[in-house]
Formats: sequence, structure tokens, C-alpha cells
Amino acid sequence: MINADLHIHTTYSGDATNQPKTIVEQLNAHPTIKVLAVTDHNTFEGCRKVQELASSYQDILVIPGVEVSAVEGELILLGVTELPPKPWKAEDVIEFAKTNGGVTVAPHPYRGYGLGDLTRRLNVDAIEVLNGITDFDLNRRAEELAKTKGLPGVAGSDAHENKELWTVCTEVQASFDVDAILKAIKRGAVRTTLTLKSIHF
Ligand SMILES: [Zn+2]
Repeated sequence: MINADLHIHTTYSGDATNQPKTIVEQLNAHPTIKVLAVTDHNTFEGCRKVQELASSYQDILVIPGVEVSAVEGELILLGVTELPPKPWKAEDVIEFAKTNGGVTVAPHPYRGYGLGDLTRRLNVDAIEVLNGITDFDLNRRAEELAKTKGLPGVAGSDAHENKELWTVCTEVQASFDVDAILKAIKRGAVRTTLTLKSIHF
């Protein structure tokens, strides 16, 4: 089993202050979380930077990702390394991810920039039911949505700044391998948990 933070922003997001170097160092030092997905807004630059820095460490793994500002709301794509062609209609973005072997997640569906009830009609692979910077009630609604749709629920800190990193985690029943993790998310071999942030941070 691995523990992952599946929603992290870097300075390349424009609205975030997490330095790639700090993210990698903290992940390496973290007692339990060893996998993360970099999901900047509409860019892979931060993801590439984090992957490059992480490559000198053996115990940590970076899942490529992006948070696309689709017309109807935000969508997280995991396991893809290119942006979909515009215009970013949610349905087309999801189709693009599927064609390219990616996994689609509806992040914080009921918070600002979320897809809201439209998520019910979309063919996403998972719902983010625990978002680190979203109110309890809104996360709970997301969890109900996932149950109604019979979809896996995942967790991500959505950290834009240092103190927001690693607040939640997704336990994935998979080996330490990006493809294995993506497949496990799709088949629902996941569980979400809150973390106690380590005193080291
Ligand atoms: Zn985000």
C-alpha cells in the first residue's frame, strides 16, 4: 500500500508559493507519504521540475498531473503529460485523458471552480471527496456524490502554500509504480484519510 497526496500546486500555478525543491525535500522526509501528484493549473512545467528534482531520490514517486480549467469547472488529469486541445469542454477534456491513458478526477466538486452537480453526468474516473482546503460540509457532499455515482473517492491537499502540504492522503492498494497506482485508483482500491502533519514541518 502506498500513501499519496494527489493534488499539489507549485509556484508554476501562478497562485501558489510551493517551491518544487521544498516539495521534493518534504516528500523525501515525510514519514508516510511518499507519492504525490503535481497538479498545477493548466501547465506541466512545475510537474516536470518536481519530477526532475525527485529523480535523484529513490523512495519518492511523482505522478504527472494537471488541473485543467475546463469551461464548466476544474478537472484533474493524472498520468497525462500534455494539455488537451482547446476549447476545454469538460467532456472533451475527459475524453482526451482517457484516450491518453490518464485518470480523471473531479476535484472539490462543490467548492468554487468545481463542476458541481454537472459531475453527475460526466464520465470521470474518481471524485475528490477529501480536499485539504475545502470545508467539511462540501467534502461531505462530494463523498455523497461519489457514493451515488459508485465512483472511487480520492484525497488531495490542494496545497498552494507550504503549511497546506500533506494535510490529507489517499491510501492506494498498489505497488510503488505510477501505472499500478493509476489502475488502482480506477478500480477503487483507495481510501482517504486526514493526516497529522509531522512535527518536523
Ligand atoms: Zn487545485
